[in-house]
Amino acid sequence: MDGLHLRSGIPREKLSEFHGNSFMERCTSCRVEYFPDFEVESVGLKETSRRCSNADFDLKLKDTVLDWEDALPPEEMNPAHAHCEKADIVLCLGTSQRSNHSVM
Ligand SMILES: [Zn+2]
Repeated sequence: MDGLHLRSGIPREKLSEFHGNSFMERCTSCRVEYFPDFEVESVGLKETSRRCSNADFDLKLKDTVLDWEDALPPEEMNPAHAHCEKADIVLCLGTSQRSNHSVM
């Protein structure tokens, strides 16, 4: 959620931000992601004070950080599944995440 993975240079398309990124906003209509230089002021997929620059819509952006009751977003889960299917090994460090594909 701290955005450090993206800042380290990992391309966005190779990263699944399961719990969101506090430095990212997303348009709920066209799904374009914005990366302001500051931390977004809300969590829980709420509207922020900024709007999408897509001229076809006049929609506010929403933060991308999940609150406790929010489900993991499919746009992050689907690529993560695809990446895991291609991987020879998956390391889960520092998480309580569990997998059905664990190999001991
Ligand atoms: Zn938009």
